[in-house]
Amino acid sequence: MTALTLMVEVDGKIRPLCNCTWITWAPCGCPCGALTAAFGGEAFATEEQAWREHYPLKREREKYQRQGYRMELMSWDRYRAEVDLAARCPHVKAAS
Ligand SMILES: [Zn+2]
Repeated sequence: MTALTLMVEVDGKIRPLCNCTWITWAPCGCPCGALTAAFGGEAFATEEQAWREHYPLKREREKYQRQGYRMELMSWDRYRAEVDLAARCPHVKAAS
């Protein structure tokens, strides 16, 4: 079985993993990162796998998880409709 045939339930439907993306949510509720769930021979089917890809070190993962970061798997359709990674987080003051 290749990554491209993996199926996951996301947004209430069974979808191929390659039609999905992991979104990292900052503690304030803004999206701050994206990770394609499957490409080439790579697949990140679980939240744990997505965390490991973003932060290989356990202490890094624990730090961000403690701060309230979370990852959510969603379809590209929902990503395009709901997530704007280019938008500025209005919750933190810009560093000056
Ligand atoms: Zn924010």
